[in-house]
Amino acid sequence: MNSVQPPSRLLLGPGPSMVNPRVYAALSRPLVGHLDPYFLTVLDEVQDGLRTIFGTRNAMTLPISGTGSAGMETCFANLVEDGDEVVIVAAGVFGGRMCDVAARLGARVERVDVEWGRVVGPAEVEAAIGRCRKVKLVAVVHAETSTGAWQPLHEISRIAHEADALFLVDCVTSLGGCPVDVDDLVIDAAYSGTQKCLSCPPGLAPVTMSERAMEAVRARKTKPRSWYLDLGLLGAYFGQQRLYHHTAPISMIYALAEAVAVVLDEGLEHRYVRHERNHHALMAGLACLGIYGAAQEGHRLWMLNSVTIPEGIDEAALRKRLLLDHGIEIGAGLGPLAGKVWRIGLMGESSRPANVRRLLLALESELRREGRAVPAGRAIEAADHVYSEKG
Ligand SMILES: *Cc1c(COP(=O)(O)O)cnc(C)c1O
Repeated sequence: MNSVQPPSRLLLGPGPSMVNPRVYAALSRPLVGHLDPYFLTVLDEVQDGLRTIFGTRNAMTLPISGTGSAGMETCFANLVEDGDEVVIVAAGVFGGRMCDVAARLGARVERVDVEWGRVVGPAEVEAAIGRCRKVKLVAVVHAETSTGAWQPLHEISRIAHEADALFLVDCVTSLGGCPVDVDDLVIDAAYSGTQKCLSCPPGLAPVTMSERAMEAVRARKTKPRSWYLDLGLLGAYFGQQRLYHHTAPISMIYALAEAVAVVLDEGLEHRYVRHERNHHALMAGLACLGIYGAAQEGHRLWMLNSVTIPEGIDEAALRKRLLLDHGIEIGAGLGPLAGKVWRIGLMGESSRPANVRRLLLALESELRREGRAVPAGRAIEAADHVYSEKG
C-alpha cells in the first residue's frame, strides 16, 4: 500500500476550496485530549471567532462534528417536533435537501418552490405562511450553491417574525465570503460548513442559535430525534461545564481555529471586497469567451459563479481536460441545470486574481482547441481591467 500522494489541483468548484498552508500545518500538530486545558482554550477561540464571522453574540455558537449537512440536520432536529409546520424556500438542491431533512424529522413542510437561478418573492413566502395554521419556522438558503443566486434575507426575516416564526438560514456557502450579519438580520438559527469560504477541509459545521431559538429548544415536549446532534447535550461540552458528550475531532478543530485566524487576520471587510472583485473580474473575462452568468441578474453570488456553456461543447469532456491537463477543478450543473451550466467557485483562498487568470487562460486555450474564434489574451485583459479600476 502506497502512502497518499494526491495530485496538485486548483479547486475552483462548489467546494472544497483551496486551503491555506497555515491550516494544513495546524492539521498535522500533535493531539492533546479533548478535555485538556490547552484544547479548551482553542475551542473557546474557535467559538469566539465564529461569533465574529457570523456577526452574532449568540452564546450557542459551536462547530458541529460533521459537514455542512450535519449543521442543517442539527438545526431541524432541535427546532422541530412532530407535526410542526415549517415553510422552506426550495430554490435549488440545498433548499430541496432542507425539505427532505425537515420531513424526516417529523415536520409538516410547506414548500415554496422557486425556479432554479431565481430569487424568491416575499409574497410567495407570505402565501406559504398563510397556508399554515401556526408556522414554527421559516427557512431559506442564503447562497444557493447549485444555482449561483442569493436569496433576500432581510425581507424574509421580517415576514417570518411577523408570523411569530423562527428564521433559519443556510450560510454554508456565504459564511466568510460575504456579510451574514446574524444579529442585525435577526436570524434565529444558522449553519455553515468549513470547506467553502472558510477554506478549511470539510468536516465541521459551524452552527449558531439565538436565545429565542434556544428557548424553543428548551420548550420541546419531546427529545430531539438525534442524540448526536442534541444541542442540549452538546451545550454541556461547548458551554461552561465542559462535560464529555462525544470526542471532539481535535485535528479538525485545530484546522478550523487556524482557518478562522486566517479570516480574521485578513479582515472581514477586506475579504468580502476581494470576493466581490474576483467575481466581477472572472465574469468580465468569461464574457470575452462567450460565457455568461446564468443566475438572475443582480442576484449572482460572488463565491459561486453559475455560467452558461458555449453551444455545441461537450461540457463533460472539457471539464475533464481542465482537470487532467490543466489541474483545475470546476463544477458541473446539478438537477435541471445539468449539462446547462458550469459552476465556478471563487471561495475563500480560491478567490485570487492569479486563479482567475489561470482559469481564463485554460478555458481560452481549450475553446480554441475546439475551433472557437476566441481572441487571444482578451479575457485576461478584461479581467485585468476590472482589477485596475479603483475599488
Ligand atoms: C455544500 C452545501 C451544503 C452541504 O454541505 P456538505 O458539507 O456537503 O454537507 C449545504 N448547503 C449549501 C448551500 C451548500 O453549498
